[in-house]
Amino acid sequence: MNDPSSIFNKKAEQIAFDETHRAKIKHNIGQYEKAFEDGKLRYANLELARQRAANVKYKTLSQLDKYLVEFEINFTNNGGKLVWARHAEEAVELIVKLLKTEKVKKVVKSKSMTSEEIKLNEQLEKNGIQAVETDLGEFIVQQAGEKPYHIVTPAMHKSKEDVAALYHEKFNTAADSTPGEITAYTRQLLRDEFQLADAAITGANFLLADVGAIALTENEGNGLMSIAFPKLHIVLVGIEKILPSIDDLDLFWPLLATHGTGQVMTAYNTIVSGTESKKMVVVLLDNGRSNLLAKKRQRQALSCIRCGACLNVCPVYKNIGGHTYDTTYTGPIGAVITPHLKGMKAYKHLSFASTLCGHCTEVCPVKIPLHQMLLLNREEAVKEGLTSSGERFMMKTATQVLQSRRATDFAGSTAKSLVMKYFFSKTWGSRRTMPKLAKKSFSQLWKEKHKLQ
Ligand code: SF4
Repeated sequence: MNDPSSIFNKKAEQIAFDETHRAKIKHNIGQYEKAFEDGKLRYANLELARQRAANVKYKTLSQLDKYLVEFEINFTNNGGKLVWARHAEEAVELIVKLLKTEKVKKVVKSKSMTSEEIKLNEQLEKNGIQAVETDLGEFIVQQAGEKPYHIVTPAMHKSKEDVAALYHEKFNTAADSTPGEITAYTRQLLRDEFQLADAAITGANFLLADVGAIALTENEGNGLMSIAFPKLHIVLVGIEKILPSIDDLDLFWPLLATHGTGQVMTAYNTIVSGTESKKMVVVLLDNGRSNLLAKKRQRQALSCIRCGACLNVCPVYKNIGGHTYDTTYTGPIGAVITPHLKGMKAYKHLSFASTLCGHCTEVCPVKIPLHQMLLLNREEAVKEGLTSSGERFMMKTATQVLQSRRATDFAGSTAKSLVMKYFFSKTWGSRRTMPKLAKKSFSQLWKEKHKLQ
């Protein structure tokens, strides 16, 4: 079976027992955890900052139409152009048309998960346009022919030895190159690309309604370099990235930096608005976001600022890693939003693949109640009859048995163990031993202890 759920289960089963993979993730997330703990200490009152950010996002989502139009008016007045894309195909079509009109053959790209969402690189390639990723992590995964593993750190699954081996194979650099040597080599290589590119494509961390500008956050300066030379700058961004005012950045920039990497502030924070000297086009993407906005109980998921913190604390993500999800957005936030962006039927399984420990909710800088949203997705899937007939039968039977003391006590332990084996052996997996049930039930033991009839 090639449905997303079967692929997910198969990949998860394999990678969860891959010790090498687990060691790399443990190491890299361990580095993040140390930095994040230090970063949090710099806040006098982090909880207050999170609550303020959640309030701003709540207000924005409640009047999204107003703020988007305000952004459009101000950005256009600044000299930029804005186009609306209802879905991925429309966004790709618009971007390709723009690039072809300007006779673009090569674009430099600054890290953008939204461009991953619409599979932009593949589409550009089909149209004879070369896309060069300029964020180091993105560049590495592009060379490896892979998708980003994590929304903030795309090459988190690779050790320094893996990257050295990849560069040795691709660029004939020394097989034992150090991270410093690899970075220097990439910097040199990208310098030429920045100058040769005919256009830049970036995302935006925030859209600022009151000043009609985009806010870009990055650590390498590659975003700035990308937009410095070419005459055309395309910004692909989801409609949920809007903030009412430039004044909101003093709250959101540090929150994003601390939760993303543990920094006080990310190294380069840039505000760009339309200019006369170069063409700047913002492509505002919906692609299922309105579906989520229409759901009052779930729209809060659109508050996400893509800091990646929920991925880093998630016990499921830490075990199965980013590629297993086979979706652009992974981890808890991916499990919450993907069913709304790509269809509940095909992606509901992600909302079920959770321990509901709530750690994601505790860490989220904009206070999205992620674990509760997973439950809402499950509720929606059940109400829409999207769970399998076997699962429905199981839940019905379990409800009946657990509601009746007599039924729970009825079968002896051997019979119960057989039932367990029959129904649960597939989900339990072959690598764990099925637990044996106690010979006597709790109520039987209770009666014996208290000498009850
Ligand atoms: S849901 Fe919250 S923690 Fe997760 S990426 Fe978005 S903002 Fe960060």
